[in-house]
Amino acid sequence: MSGREFHCDVCEGVQLFEAPPCVDGHGVDCPEFVCTGCGAAVLIATFALRTPRLDARRRRPATPGHRRAA
Ligand SMILES: [Zn+2]
Ligand SMILES: [Zn+2]
Repeated sequence: MSGREFHCDVCEGVQLFEAPPCVDGHGVDCPEFVCTGCGAAVLIATFALRTPRLDARRRRPATPGHRRAA
């Protein structure tokens, strides 16, 4: 596979991404793709591992911060 389509934030749309020659020794597992529209490099791993744990475990503020007690 030499090209995949992903949403590009720079292009604000779906663009064809191609895997550039890997220089980091990732081989076939190289997560790097380059947008053919704008040339921005992205890590596809960030798409697969997008787990918003911070949002899921967001805690409510237990105490109001703008209450002054003397
Ligand atoms: Zn690589
Ligand atoms: Zn782009």
